[in-house]
Amino acid sequence: MSVPFLPGEFEPAVAEHLPGWHHRRCPRCDRRFFARRGRPTCADVRLGCAAEYGFLDRRHPTYRPPLDVLHTARTHFTDAGFTEARIADMLPDGGDTFFVIAGVQLFDDVLHHGAPPRDGAYFIAQPSVRLRAPHKIGVRPGILSSFVNLCTEQLNGSFTDYTAHLHAWLAGLLALGLDEDGVTLIVELEPDRRGDFEFRTIDVNYYGFELGEAILLRTTDPASPVRTMLDFGFGFERIVWVVNGADSFSSMVGPPRLALGDNPRLIDFLRTMTLLAAAGLTPANSGRGHVLRRLAKLAAEEGAGSAPIDDIVAHSYAYWAAFTTPRVDLATCTAVVRAEANRAVNARLAARLGARSAATRLDRDPDDFIVELVNRNKVSLGAVRAAMRRG
Ligand SMILES: [Zn+2]
Repeated sequence: MSVPFLPGEFEPAVAEHLPGWHHRRCPRCDRRFFARRGRPTCADVRLGCAAEYGFLDRRHPTYRPPLDVLHTARTHFTDAGFTEARIADMLPDGGDTFFVIAGVQLFDDVLHHGAPPRDGAYFIAQPSVRLRAPHKIGVRPGILSSFVNLCTEQLNGSFTDYTAHLHAWLAGLLALGLDEDGVTLIVELEPDRRGDFEFRTIDVNYYGFELGEAILLRTTDPASPVRTMLDFGFGFERIVWVVNGADSFSSMVGPPRLALGDNPRLIDFLRTMTLLAAAGLTPANSGRGHVLRRLAKLAAEEGAGSAPIDDIVAHSYAYWAAFTTPRVDLATCTAVVRAEANRAVNARLAARLGARSAATRLDRDPDDFIVELVNRNKVSLGAVRAAMRRG
């Protein structure tokens, strides 16, 4: 099956399926883009093609909780003929990654284990974990260590199927109350490569903020039973942000009274720990269990010692359970997260006091740990206070 692919054939083919959309080259980033209304640039804030996001505080303030947004999206895509699917296990056996990192892994059995390609267009709302750039969390909007990858996926789809997915997404964004004038479809300049596939990408932006990507892949292996793949992946929490037009991305992530505070990084790390612990992961000194340990350390640096950990875990647990079935109950999940957070908080304090070997059990309650430091290690309360103050 041949699909329009190379620059010079891909863009005109897309244009043909977007009647009434303006189509031009962005003078700043050089990419071609489509918009409902004529606009001078592609408006991508990340690349400097616009100065700020155009959706902030545009809307009449109504709080639409994430799970309400999910319900609308789910109804839209199933009504549009997509079959809802899910990946049962956040902790896949084998494979390239410790965790599920994207909804397209729905097809891992086909792509990596020789299962026959499945027909049909799928909708999937998949919790995903990516720890590539923890320093950007809470700094750059849209970046989280765990998020829901809202996707539509299809194997061996045609170019017409690709544009059908694109239209389903455009209609879905409107169903969520977004304004079509704010949507820009930006064509990435060159084909890229992923394993045995090369692909074209259209970024779907909303008033300058990237919501997702519409990817068309074709195989470079003539013997492959998978000739093309349609992979539309959106950041669900990103969509929730623009639907609410809230003033900050992080204000929509976590329990509202805490999300409106100023420590999005702490909420993010505990929320990811909750997702992993709910999937049955336990901390370890190596392998994927070590990721829990690493997240706890990051949470300790953000003040986990005085945070309402149980509340953040309970809220996160309920959130993730809307997308994936937990493998352990809330009490077990909370105990795992709390013990590991305590361990990181206590280890940090002990290290600062030069009392690393002090405690018999690092994962104990931080108050008990302090009492032990004073009574057994003869550390003064003043010294503990100073160590805690150093941030
Ligand atoms: Zn641009």
